[in-house]
Amino acid sequence: MGVIDLAISEQDIKSIVQSVLSGMGISEVGAAAGSDQPKIRQKGIFVHIEDAIAAAKAAQKEIQPMPLEFREKIIANIRKKTLENAKLFAELGVEETKMGNVGHKILKHQLVAEKTPGTEDLSTVAWSGDRGLTLVEQGPFGVIGAVTPSTNPSETVICNSIGMLAAGNAVVFAPHPAAKKVSNLAIDMVNRASVEVGGPENLAVAVENPTMDVSKVIFGHKDISLLVATGGPGVVTTVLSSGKRAIGAGAGNPPVLVDETANIAKAAEDIVNGCTFDNNLPCIAEKEVVAVHSIADELIFYMKQTGCYFASDEEVDKLVATVFTEKNGKRILNRQCVGRSAKVLLEKIGVEVGNEIRCIIFEGAKEHPLISEELMMPILGIVRVKDVDEGIETAVWLEHGNRHSAHMHSTNVNNLTRYGKALDTAIFVKNGPSYAALGFGGEGYPTFTIASRTGEGLTSAKTFTKSRRCVMCDALCIR
Ligand code: NAD
Repeated sequence: MGVIDLAISEQDIKSIVQSVLSGMGISEVGAAAGSDQPKIRQKGIFVHIEDAIAAAKAAQKEIQPMPLEFREKIIANIRKKTLENAKLFAELGVEETKMGNVGHKILKHQLVAEKTPGTEDLSTVAWSGDRGLTLVEQGPFGVIGAVTPSTNPSETVICNSIGMLAAGNAVVFAPHPAAKKVSNLAIDMVNRASVEVGGPENLAVAVENPTMDVSKVIFGHKDISLLVATGGPGVVTTVLSSGKRAIGAGAGNPPVLVDETANIAKAAEDIVNGCTFDNNLPCIAEKEVVAVHSIADELIFYMKQTGCYFASDEEVDKLVATVFTEKNGKRILNRQCVGRSAKVLLEKIGVEVGNEIRCIIFEGAKEHPLISEELMMPILGIVRVKDVDEGIETAVWLEHGNRHSAHMHSTNVNNLTRYGKALDTAIFVKNGPSYAALGFGGEGYPTFTIASRTGEGLTSAKTFTKSRRCVMCDALCIR
């Protein structure tokens, strides 16, 4: 999908930024000399990208020789500040991008603060014997260039910062321009957390005005040795073509298959909860349903009971005309609809509903544009199939080879196994909402950078390391 272009004036946002900053104990918003533009002096935020990269390089040189315990001290303070400011980040994120839901964004920040792995994620492999002791350690790359999306902006910045710092790196961010305020505020918070406990400033940096040209400098810079892109297919392909080592966390279109053995009432509730989380912005969220014919009506019945509005054919046509727009003869997403609630989307087509409506559902063929395209809004098309075999085939088609996420509701382990093998995705949630994959109501750790294209899966500190062999000859084996 294309770049989200949602402008918000500096003046509009100033009061929110001011309130966020004061909530964080910062009072550094003032007018730049000789200008009406408010000038926000934030830690780690530079005017020129070359200065930002040089500062990150210097900070990394400081942090690398420090004890792991010290990295943990900084990370503990990042966690604390994230928890303290979760509401402020959530409010600013929604205000700036006009996408998502404050309550769910608070939960996402809390999840990142509490469960993103730190230095404990790094491990050592050892061999010892007559010829001595050999270790393989996970060492830092140095300075990482990280592109972040508009959909989970500060969540991704904070999560990446914790993992990258735990591994001993500094990071130069290229935040989505439509989410630069909240992203840069998160970068400022990371640096304040470090400085407060005696660590270096500039462990995370960015520029005031991130643009494609700024990203180009990052992608080609000699002092950046690893690129991490979280976003749509455009940016992932760009970093993978950069000639540098790159981790690509790209787009998905996660199908959820329900077979005749599932607990249908629970499946309906889980699917609607997963799909509507932060107005469907997470890339892992259920984007369409594939239902075996014999239970499809029952599933729709329960989905209606759990806050779904069943759209008529005419309303579905109106949604198509509203949700998509055209650019250069190509159908693209109307960004005024991405991350909006079901109620707002229905209002756009002239349908008034109450706050209990969380999701829009309809039945259609798998080729229907509202089903086959990644929408990132709470619209769930339901594709009826004759049996589980056709269901698996349909889900594989709908996932488009992204190898990102796919989910299923079933109590038949053979069906679940066949689905998991056929879909071959980084994430496969069974009998729960998609967000269970992020450790929210499921086991395991969270991340908002799921490396689907390059295969690392759910990234964490260890993903941002390189292997280093450390050999002691003829000593230190004490067996
Ligand atoms: P986007 O692709 O519009 O933007 C993502 C980032 O890439 C932004 O910082 C943007 O400025 C930059 N960018 C875009 N095209 C670029 C190019 N050609 N060169 C350099 N930089 C470029 O994505 P978005 O709308 O912010 O986020 C939604 C998309 O990201 C969805 O497709 C979603 O599935 C995906 N996503 C994936 C993950 C994951 O972990 N796999 C996480 C979040 C979002």
